[in-house]
Amino acid sequence: GDRKKKLRVFFLPFFARGHLIPQTDLACRLAAARPSDVESTIVVTPANALLIEPTVSRATASGHVVHILPYPFPDVGLGPGIECLSAAPARDEWRVYRAADLAQPAHEALLRAHRPDAVVADVSFWWTTDVAVELGIPRLTFHPVGAFPQLAMNNLFAVRADIVARGGREADRRQLRVAVPGMPGGKLPDFLVRDDHLSALWGRLKAAQLTGFGVVVNTFADLERAYCDEYRRVDARRAYFVGPISQPSLSAVRRGGDGDADCLGWLSTQPSRSVVYVCFGSWAHFSAAQMTELALGLEASNQPFLWVVRSSDAGVPDEAWERRVAGRGVVVRGWAPQLAVLAHPSVGAFLTHCGWNSVLEAASAGVPVLTWPLVFEQFINERLVTEVAAFGARVWDDGAGVRSVRREEADTVPAEAVARAVAGFMERGGRREKAEVKVKELAERARAAVAENGSSWRDMHRLIDDLVQARTSGPNVALS
Ligand code: UDP
Repeated sequence: GDRKKKLRVFFLPFFARGHLIPQTDLACRLAAARPSDVESTIVVTPANALLIEPTVSRATASGHVVHILPYPFPDVGLGPGIECLSAAPARDEWRVYRAADLAQPAHEALLRAHRPDAVVADVSFWWTTDVAVELGIPRLTFHPVGAFPQLAMNNLFAVRADIVARGGREADRRQLRVAVPGMPGGKLPDFLVRDDHLSALWGRLKAAQLTGFGVVVNTFADLERAYCDEYRRVDARRAYFVGPISQPSLSAVRRGGDGDADCLGWLSTQPSRSVVYVCFGSWAHFSAAQMTELALGLEASNQPFLWVVRSSDAGVPDEAWERRVAGRGVVVRGWAPQLAVLAHPSVGAFLTHCGWNSVLEAASAGVPVLTWPLVFEQFINERLVTEVAAFGARVWDDGAGVRSVRREEADTVPAEAVARAVAGFMERGGRREKAEVKVKELAERARAAVAENGSSWRDMHRLIDDLVQARTSGPNVALS
């Protein structure tokens, strides 16, 4: 190969924001880490191209080479928004993973036409391992969640397979609360592994991941060190822990929303560490009844709050409520600049659904967390927050320590519970104080991880070195 030419790395992010944002930032950071050696190309749907454009422009303005390569997403009647996943229907979350396969023909055609030196593809695009073999290039899996949730999911699926093998009836499986070996804090809700399709899909994703060149994970070693070590041993040929990938400097740029509200100005009028930031990510959503309880609970908590409500949410607080909380509570409709909000000194706690990015961003910003998981591995991430790294507490607990969004009526968290949890967390001597000590230390370690010679900095450079070497020696180069 031509050693003077830059390494051309293609990034294939999944459509949802929680995947798109960190992978876009990764593409920019990789190009920035070694500008004379690396150029990045991000392959996205046209709708997502518009969302990432400001972030990419900022990188190119700094002289780094980052391209956007849009491809047409097939219209297969999955409804509007599937190609950028700005909102998901509440009961059909796994549908989106099936939708991932629809990108296969376009992705394969682009990779064959452009023949990059390496491809970093989202975990859900399992087929990229095969096309990478065909082209003789390394395929890296990008994981938007950490080592702890991934290992826990492996165990969950193993437990499930065991139950199925022993002839467990579907009805039994539904009742089951799964005890996961090595999982702190007891059992997990079984809906994470209930679906046969999902089980088969997980097997396919893992097989593709394990035969690929390696895995890039958005985490830093000090957040979940024992699990990172275990992950290196069992779940990847090569693992690069390069997080936190997204940095507050990027959040000034509008990245993926309906328009940032001017909430930072309001935050600056509030006392230090006083505001509860309330946000449940980019696409999970509440019933109208739950929205009402949440609104009344935040009102009754008597704490200042900043609440992000998505435009598609029903049961949004009414005018009378807005008048009552005026001055103390601010509602952002659409999208908040989350990294900048978390970095603001007035923010004292984060009420979150425990999406991995949000958990990582809270830890990196040093903000204690109140957990309210809704779907997917958010229930596992909650364990990391409350039991392992211990920088937060649950907003609500049914006593057994397990909740499921699948029993919706039973699971509406009443306003009094919200108010009690929020006020109790924030009060003097409350659980926040212990969490704060832990999370400040984590934030320090996150900063150190990405600083020169930190663990994530070294993994980022090792990744580039390994890819440069693979260009000359081929993707089967010995493990470093
Ligand atoms: N985010 C944001 N503003 C919002 C909502 C979300 O900037 O109003 C960002 C947040 O900082 C994070 C991502 O969107 O980077 C959400 O990812 P996460 O894994 O927390 O949740 P998901 O959206 O995947 O459920």
